[in-house]
Amino acid sequence: MIVILKEHPNQKQLENLKAWLTSMGLAIHESDGVNHQILGLVGDTSKVDIDLIQALDIVDDVKRIQEPYKNANRKFHPLDTVVAAGDAKVGGGHFSVIAGPCSVESEAQIIGVAKSVKAAGATMLRGGAFKPRTSPYAFQGLRAEGIRLLLEAKQETGLPIVTEIMDLSQLELFDEVDVIQVGARNMQNFEMLKELGHLRKPILLKRGLANTLQELLMSAEYIMSGGNEQIILCERGIRTFETYTRNTMDISAIPALKTLTHLPVIADPSHATGRSAMVRPMALAATAAGADGLIIEVHNDPQHALCDGPQSQTEAEFADTMKQILRVRALLTEDDGGKNG
Ligand code: PEP
Ligand code: MN
Repeated sequence: MIVILKEHPNQKQLENLKAWLTSMGLAIHESDGVNHQILGLVGDTSKVDIDLIQALDIVDDVKRIQEPYKNANRKFHPLDTVVAAGDAKVGGGHFSVIAGPCSVESEAQIIGVAKSVKAAGATMLRGGAFKPRTSPYAFQGLRAEGIRLLLEAKQETGLPIVTEIMDLSQLELFDEVDVIQVGARNMQNFEMLKELGHLRKPILLKRGLANTLQELLMSAEYIMSGGNEQIILCERGIRTFETYTRNTMDISAIPALKTLTHLPVIADPSHATGRSAMVRPMALAATAAGADGLIIEVHNDPQHALCDGPQSQTEAEFADTMKQILRVRALLTEDDGGKNG
């Protein structure tokens, strides 16, 4: 349920209203709309008398929220959430490109790629230390050593780092990680989501291989219900009957999510397509569809990559893609009179 307040509500009456709502066991989430302050009520609102609240002097309107996700709902929080990591910002008109290899392989590799993606305009560095591989015989990642090397690359370049957690037992290794990635395979690991909700650190939440947008938003809700509101959602392709591409990139998820939620939405054209030649066109399509950013796999030597070589761009390809992304962004910014830039 949301309570939309009149402009400049009497503060005493507002305090009384909040105390009354809290006494009914409801949590109150306050946010600003374009003109009005909004109280979002979380909990069992079935016993709340809408007419009674509606009749108050300071109340403009009261609405029930049908969707099961409340904190993530745009109705609860009309303005875009901006997630910040170091100097990078995502959402609310801020656009960020996260780039780097699928996996951290060596010091020279991660530092070299970090420098080149930064020079091309990336604002965050990605690299997997713990890798969710389909085969137990495939490279599993450098694990703790991989995180150490990412931190070294951060020191060298100043780029905030994004890396995936696969199990809560690894959490203590993530203290200095700027953005914790929850991969597609863990999107519904509810115990992990609850624990990440206790942190005050950005979470990059990827859509599961076969999950609906509502399920993705419910996973974000798990994290938000613990108080962590810094979530970046990521469309990374879903399973369909098509086999030419690794997954099917659901571009429509971007504008749909932007309507349903205030959280920033980015896209991953690398895992969505599995083909490096398709990364640039899909990156541009996602940007044009209104994504708040992209995550792109870039490798110094894709042919010899230990993981996801076929979908990795070379450093030169990424630099070229970045230029075109910025051109698409400039067009969008022009169209909305600068609001989006
Ligand atoms: C990754 O980003 O390297 C990854 C494994 O992604 P996803 O969880 O989307 O498959
Ligand atoms: Mn990968």
